[in-house]
Amino acid sequence: MLYQTHARVHLGNIRRNLEGIRAQVGPDRKVLIAVKANAYGHGAVEVSRMAERLGLADGLGVATVPEGLELREAGLKLPILKFSPAFPEEMAAAVSAGIALAVCERPNIEALQAVAAGLGRKALVHLKIDTGMGRIGVTPGEAPALALFIERQCPDLLLEGVMTHLPVSDEEGGIAYTRDEIALFRGTVATLAAAIGRMPELVHASNSGAVLGHEDAWLSMVRPGIMIYGHYPDATTPRTIPLHPGMSLLTRLAFVKKVAAGTSIGYGRTWVAPQDTWIGTLPAGYADGFNRLFSNRGRALVRGRSCPVVGRVCMDQCMIDLGPDAGAAPGDEVVLMGRSGAEEITAQEWADVLGTITYEVTCQINARVERVFD
Ligand code: PLP
Repeated sequence: MLYQTHARVHLGNIRRNLEGIRAQVGPDRKVLIAVKANAYGHGAVEVSRMAERLGLADGLGVATVPEGLELREAGLKLPILKFSPAFPEEMAAAVSAGIALAVCERPNIEALQAVAAGLGRKALVHLKIDTGMGRIGVTPGEAPALALFIERQCPDLLLEGVMTHLPVSDEEGGIAYTRDEIALFRGTVATLAAAIGRMPELVHASNSGAVLGHEDAWLSMVRPGIMIYGHYPDATTPRTIPLHPGMSLLTRLAFVKKVAAGTSIGYGRTWVAPQDTWIGTLPAGYADGFNRLFSNRGRALVRGRSCPVVGRVCMDQCMIDLGPDAGAAPGDEVVLMGRSGAEEITAQEWADVLGTITYEVTCQINARVERVFD
């Protein structure tokens, strides 16, 4: 089959990244991989299957109950953790599928206890402590009492884990703040363990930034995301593990035409040919995730040559300037992200042009873009 616009997911690179993480944190720590948001756009089922088959992950992290259910329906057996609490209406589905849930407040915990009791099943919970992210979580001061409540008054819940999330672990400027958070978290966990008379099995705090730069935060499990897909979370994060890109975005020339100097291209007539040139039309637009901000700013690679995006990116198509000697024909492969000859367009380049981060770049490759796995 010939593909139009498609994302080529480099499972081999993702595998190498996972192997690098495993080697970094050692055999005694568990690695739960963030496969939320369709594995940051790379295909949650396929990435999870590969990691499960090769023994490269001990758990899968999701953001929503449906994401967890999708993995179970695809046959994944690894433990699954939803990083945030579930709403009461979705608890039964989560517990039945064996999806562990983050919890951080009493009414939500009581609702989960009732659901688990009704199902006659133990629900696994991870207490989320807010040590400085300011998003969700119980305060460190209240955490031991809430853990005790789960332990003593919720017979159908098992406090399997305790977790925090670090907002600046990837930034050079965040080193001191992160160290303070890790110390606070460790201290809170010690107090909590003393209160309930045992240490929860999984104590975890490390996103990619902490896996790369804060060994103190590795604890009993790490929870990397973006680095699995080949990107450092920040330009200032220590590059302690070599990473390889998890995705390329490819399309093909759908139409090639010669235009005379002065010809305008696309909606709004924002680009006018300064000379006679060849224009290529690509079947990729903002509905595919080829952001409209690439209008007159992005570029594509054709046979190893860099060609600027000209005119506005449309919903389903865009145009590139192939230059006065076209050197390309309809059907030729065009690289929107990835390598062509000696040239490469990285996710970081996209992020820089779009004023965002690589996380958003790969997540924004839309569902209609077929994922092809190599
Ligand atoms: N843990 C939690 C709770 C998260 O929300 C995320 C992602 O945002 C991760 C781990 C993985 O973070 P990163 O992709 O920065 O490694």
